[in-house]
Amino acid sequence: MDEQKSNCEENDSEPTDDSASAHQSISLQGSPRVSPAAADKSGSNTASSSTPECIRACALCNCVDRSLLGQRELRHFRSSSERPTNKPSAFPLPQPGNDDLSSIGFSDSSCLTALFDDSGCWVHHWCAVWSDGVKQTEDEELEDVDKAVISGTQRLCEYCKRLGASIQCHVEGCSRFYHFPCSAASGSFQSMKQLVLLCPEHIDKAEELGEEAWCAVCDSVGELTELLFCTGCGLHYHASCLEIGATPIQRAGWQCPECKVCQTCQPGEDSKMLVCDACDKGYHTFCLQPAMDSLPSDPWKCRRCRVCMECGVRGLMLPGSAQWFENYNMCEECQQHRSSVCCVCSKAANPSVGLQCCGICR
Ligand SMILES: [Zn+2]
Ligand SMILES: [Zn+2]
Ligand SMILES: [Zn+2]
Ligand SMILES: [Zn+2]
Ligand SMILES: [Zn+2]
Ligand SMILES: [Zn+2]
Ligand SMILES: [Zn+2]
Ligand SMILES: [Zn+2]
Repeated sequence: MDEQKSNCEENDSEPTDDSASAHQSISLQGSPRVSPAAADKSGSNTASSSTPECIRACALCNCVDRSLLGQRELRHFRSSSERPTNKPSAFPLPQPGNDDLSSIGFSDSSCLTALFDDSGCWVHHWCAVWSDGVKQTEDEELEDVDKAVISGTQRLCEYCKRLGASIQCHVEGCSRFYHFPCSAASGSFQSMKQLVLLCPEHIDKAEELGEEAWCAVCDSVGELTELLFCTGCGLHYHASCLEIGATPIQRAGWQCPECKVCQTCQPGEDSKMLVCDACDKGYHTFCLQPAMDSLPSDPWKCRRCRVCMECGVRGLMLPGSAQWFENYNMCEECQQHRSSVCCVCSKAANPSVGLQCCGICR
């Protein structure tokens, strides 16, 4: 449990740089899902395809528990009659996604059997509830989640083009499917009360839902494509009414001002909450590593959203204490590099050559 926690604790406390960079690579094929420790334990028993508990991930979106993308908690669902019949795959599962929209779901359906343990599979609450074909019984139990997982492994998400998509557009004849985090990222409309998704193409139908499609600020439907969906309360807000953006990373796992909790400690006091300028997620100043004493006056970006424009290094690959420049758009190394280019012609010539003043100006 502790290990799982550390896996998803806010990125500022990401356990090791190695694991973070592994998560970042787009091509996750071939990277073993099991951690070295877990692999040792199960090494003699490779036939067993059960997922090691310490890095349990959702069989639909492939994110860990307490993801930043609003899927709620991971739950275990028992398999009904139907069990996956594929032979155990030679391909190990990819690493669980690191809440990065490019690593949601799976790139290969051969991992199907590995998604199930002996009695069923693990799926986030919201990923399960919204899935096509999943039924809610009177005592709030969910049925056929395992079937949704099996068909999900064959379905590409309309947004991220990866497998594991299980949430279908509500409009008859529309065959668009999404992962839960991608539903919001794609700009689809989501109704929490009716568990209905309308893809961007069919978003006009949201007007028929009446009040549910109204913005909580201006009490009107207004521009539907601008509505952000709160994964906490299900209310909708126009991005412009809150004066924020509506980028995919802001939309995915978005929480309204009333529901916003610290991504590191979850509920807790709502004082000293920093809101990331890029993804609109909240973090306590004291939950950051290193902790901040006070709220900065300049726009702030969480580690997940820091990307060096120069070399492409991402905040998650660097220690939390790494220095950033230019509104978190330049890493320390590139900043030093920049300040050491030739001051006369400002050419760094060939960056791989080194940083001496260029021959011409010397
Ligand atoms: Zn999920
Ligand atoms: Zn997707
Ligand atoms: Zn549609
Ligand atoms: Zn509004
Ligand atoms: Zn809310
Ligand atoms: Zn916190
Ligand atoms: Zn952020
Ligand atoms: Zn850089």
